[in-house]
Amino acid sequence: MPDRLLLLGGTGEALALARRLAEAMPDLSVVTSLAGRTLDPVLPPGEVRRGGFGGVDGLVRYLKNEKISLLVNATHPYAAEMSAHALAAREMADVALLRLLRPAWRKQPADSWIRAHDVQGAAGICKWLGRRVLLALGSQEIHHFAGVPRAHFVVRMVDAPAAPLPLENCEVIAGRGPFSLAEERRIILEYGIDLIVAKNSGGDATFAKIAAAREFSIPIVMVDRPEIALHPGCDSVPGVEEALAWIAAHRREAAARPRSDRAQPSHRR
Ligand code: NAP
Repeated sequence: MPDRLLLLGGTGEALALARRLAEAMPDLSVVTSLAGRTLDPVLPPGEVRRGGFGGVDGLVRYLKNEKISLLVNATHPYAAEMSAHALAAREMADVALLRLLRPAWRKQPADSWIRAHDVQGAAGICKWLGRRVLLALGSQEIHHFAGVPRAHFVVRMVDAPAAPLPLENCEVIAGRGPFSLAEERRIILEYGIDLIVAKNSGGDATFAKIAAAREFSIPIVMVDRPEIALHPGCDSVPGVEEALAWIAAHRREAAARPRSDRAQPSHRR
């Protein structure tokens, strides 16, 4: 049976990996899965599916029905739920699982970061710090800031919200990154930003806000990456080329196994 790979996407790395796989392994059948949150996503080559699987059971069903043998979780470093489901489904569907996770940014001496365990914790910090706060967190967790008094929030999201945000005092900047350093400087100055709330996404695409905050000595409330999304106990690589090498090694290993073993893959690591 030919190898079939499910790529849990929604990130630049997933897009880049799908493109590299199409070039380097045209015989590998790749399905990219998108959560479906962005209205007009950049589509990768190969098959694409959109929307949730319906929890762990739905994911296991999908993996079995589609005869997937390789699962690559290239979701965002903060995609805790999808990551938890991928980890659980690995056992149940007996697929080989790889986490593709870009390295986190490291705080430099000129940075002023206040760590928050999660977005709720970040909202707690905003109760006593920051008057004009840039929320660069995406759209899903804005409600945590609903009870924060006195702050004016500038909320950045890819698509303008369909309904008013649950914040008393806010305005929205809609737009898809990457944002240049010049744009980030302009936003800080134009909106009078004195605090930024961000996730440690890592990579270049969203780094300019960190660089701009450093220049203006603006503090950042940096939300920790959720532990489960790091995929403890699972193979993990920081970049696309390493992922490609891992996939190639797995395919070689599977091909070298006797035919009788291949029906019941033993490729868990
Ligand atoms: P999540 O909270 O881990 O996932 C929630 C549910 O969405 C999953 O249980 C799954 O639904 C579905 N889902 C997520 N990724 C999927 C995929 N690739 N294919 C199919 N279904 C998928 O993940 P998230 O909603 O993507 O976002 C989590 C955090 O990451 C947020 O804090 C967000 O701000 C941040 N973030 C995400 C992206 C992105 O591109 N996704 C980009 C920037 C930031 P079922 O249980 O029904 O399978």
